Amino acid sequence: MTKDDVLNALKRVKGPDLDGNIVELGLVSEVVIANRKVYFSITVPPERAEQLEPLRKAAEQVVSDLDGVDHVGVVLTADAPTGQAAKPAAPAATPKPKAPAGGPGGGGQSAGVPGVKHIIAVASGKGGVGKSTTSVNLALALQANGLKVGVLDADIYGPSMPRLLGISGRPQQAHGNVLSPMEGYGLKCMSMGFLVDEGTPVVWRGPMVISALTQMLREVAWGELDVLVVDMPPGTGDAQLTMAQQVPLAGAIIVSTPQDLALIDARKGLNMFRQVDVPVLGIIENMSYFLCPSCGERSNIFGHGGAKNEADKLGIPFLGEIPLHMDIRETSDAGQPVVASAPNSEHTSIYRAIAEKAWSSIGSSGAKAAPSINIQ
Ligand code: ADP
Repeated sequence: MTKDDVLNALKRVKGPDLDGNIVELGLVSEVVIANRKVYFSITVPPERAEQLEPLRKAAEQVVSDLDGVDHVGVVLTADAPTGQAAKPAAPAATPKPKAPAGGPGGGGQSAGVPGVKHIIAVASGKGGVGKSTTSVNLALALQANGLKVGVLDADIYGPSMPRLLGISGRPQQAHGNVLSPMEGYGLKCMSMGFLVDEGTPVVWRGPMVISALTQMLREVAWGELDVLVVDMPPGTGDAQLTMAQQVPLAGAIIVSTPQDLALIDARKGLNMFRQVDVPVLGIIENMSYFLCPSCGERSNIFGHGGAKNEADKLGIPFLGEIPLHMDIRETSDAGQPVVASAPNSEHTSIYRAIAEKAWSSIGSSGAKAAPSINIQ
């Protein structure tokens, strides 16, 4: 499958007003093909982005139907006036990450955040695997292990950190455009949930999402942090790829459940980070086995161990397994994550052991030592 095959398929998709086709109208960005995955963007007038979702879907469909395509990432982009926001999300899949505008040229890494020593992303191939629950408990566990920790909730559409950490209210202005982070259980935290009222649907174009994320990263007075944990949006699409590129990540952690399907998705997550040269620090298997809340008996109802096998196969560290347990869910729902509310529990020691492993692999990964993988 070649770029021409993709463009030929896309010629079947009509333009916004049903005249011509999106290729001949010059609306399709460069097409990036990586490992049976295809990424591109379609330029549309910003005010019509929502209305033109069917066009995006149609483009996604015709390319998905091609032989040799496993995944298609299509975003609608608008020609934003200036700065990074103008960068369409899709070309994020190009092999060499670019430094942000104004940043140090040629380094291939985006500029760091002053005061923040390491930034790690927690990602998953799909939603509902417990990524946010794991992020918050991992952050608390890193803190319990003696580190200064912050959490950036990068899920613009479905922020969960305010709820998980039981924080409400609005961030104060620190100085100029810079906001003070909120704080819960000693963790510094920033989330779109603090800035947008709950229940307000956020329908944003790709570039706006990216600029919101960079602002939450760079226009927040994080102070001195050993580690900032970024709870990534679920999935492995363009927003995630761009995010992974915009943030100077020391490494990424993939959360997966034991089911095969989820593992396939986890693999997508791995590839995503490898494409942008971010070392994968390891896989955590969440909801790994069922711990009966009344008798404490352990049952491997989900074919436990899949993530470990997969990690071994891929040569990636396996960071540990977290049981499926009512206490983990109930404490999260109540805004009292288990590591904070039950510091001496078995769950907490599991999270702390995982945090220790993850932290030691940040040191040993050498941050930028990941091999460069040519995806073409
Ligand atoms: P994601 O961020 O991947 O969408 P969440 O962290 O929101 O997932 O978790 C989805 C649901 O699963 C939540 O209700 C959460 O409380 C629950 N959950 C997550 N991990 C566990 C676990 N180990 N045991 C029990 N419930 C869990």
